[in-house]
Amino acid sequence: MKGKLIKVEFDLEFKKKRNFHLTTPCCHKSNKDGKFVNYKCLNDNYGYCHSCGKSTLPRPIYKDENDIEYQWDELNNCFDEIVLQTYYSNTLKSSDNEVGHCNAPVEMDVKESKYIEKELVLRYNKVKPENNLLYYIRKTYGNTKAELVKNMYNLGTSKDGGTIFWNINKDSKVQKAKISYYKKDGKRTNYFKVPYKNEVGYFSCLFGEHLINIPKNKNKSIILVESEKTAIVSALHLPEFVWLAYGGINGLTNDKLKPLIGLKVILVPDISENAVAIMNSKLPYLLELGIDAKIWDMTNDKNDEQLKNEGWFNCDLEDVFRFI
Ligand SMILES: [Zn+2]
Repeated sequence: MKGKLIKVEFDLEFKKKRNFHLTTPCCHKSNKDGKFVNYKCLNDNYGYCHSCGKSTLPRPIYKDENDIEYQWDELNNCFDEIVLQTYYSNTLKSSDNEVGHCNAPVEMDVKESKYIEKELVLRYNKVKPENNLLYYIRKTYGNTKAELVKNMYNLGTSKDGGTIFWNINKDSKVQKAKISYYKKDGKRTNYFKVPYKNEVGYFSCLFGEHLINIPKNKNKSIILVESEKTAIVSALHLPEFVWLAYGGINGLTNDKLKPLIGLKVILVPDISENAVAIMNSKLPYLLELGIDAKIWDMTNDKNDEQLKNEGWFNCDLEDVFRFI
């Protein structure tokens, strides 16, 4: 990401026709009374609700000087580069003739997928000193367990000390890499790199997708979490599950979900009303795709205020493990 980011504005106009069949994303009511009004061009999960007064909008897009688009990732506190085609296909209405009147770009070049050589994965596996996340895992969980997850997820170290999370798919092909930077205490910084770009044909897949096809994992349930680190640490604590990460809430895209079709999947959002609400709004979509998905809501129906008072707000599974 370079220089200043500029917000991209959408032209929003209300649709005349209501969708009476939906459940409002804001206050979770049936829209039989038509209080939820949709926008032209956007999917029906976006709109304005006359019942609770909330607007549900896609998160704003920002552009840098090279026209690369980003979204603010609230949960990870950083800007995330947008996977264009999936963002737009999840957000914009496509089977709608109204789409012609919209300003938003819908035409995309579909690039052929490219893969990263496996030798690179092996080479970055051996870089010393290891990255801070592995340092933290070794110190906290011991060398045996650290080696286990290092090998399981092929964790690498970049030349500048970052943690390389390779996106390896079910066919053991390496699709993409995300480099995150951690402190020695295992906490993530806001700095990250995505060296292989979508524009060139490197598309992300779920972190850990390669684990689905391993024979000993065949009968295990899959648990899908947000951050790569949560997946890794949870795999240490509960190896009876297969732990995958989607890397930020807008990373839960169609293409990434496809390998999960027909499988049992438990989704674990972080502990906040927002994280759970976003996941709940995605659930029908997953079920429709044919994924046997359930949400494990760790908020226990408490609101953010109560969670803050109790110290659980925005916690993830590792914080929960530390407590039990
Ligand atoms: Zn509402």
